[in-house]
Amino acid sequence: MYCKNCGHELQDNSEFCVYCGARQGSNNVNGKDSSALGLLSIIFAFVQPMVGLILGIVGVLQGKSSKSKKTAIVGLILSFIMLFVYLILIFVFLDRTLEKIYELIDSETYLIFLLGK
Ligand SMILES: [Zn+2]
Repeated sequence: MYCKNCGHELQDNSEFCVYCGARQGSNNVNGKDSSALGLLSIIFAFVQPMVGLILGIVGVLQGKSSKSKKTAIVGLILSFIMLFVYLILIFVFLDRTLEKIYELIDSETYLIFLLGK
């Protein structure tokens, strides 16, 4: 490749020109951004799986290098698994709270029944 500023021959994929210091607009910059999306997706998978899922999809769609796409896919899969785990936890939690509410209603109707007497 050649420098976009001064035209000197450079090593392929170099970020800066060794002769004039001009930044070379390579795909590396975009690749880093997309891979950041994938990494965010992995992090959000544990905190907010829905956000992780969306970030993962965007990361896969915008990922230009195979590495950033792979990162995004990992985030996507992790988000999917965590979403499933969270759903199960919510159902278990709801089940228990419903049981407690029923117990409360039961004891209250029992009290009303007692007071009514
Ligand atoms: Zn140059």
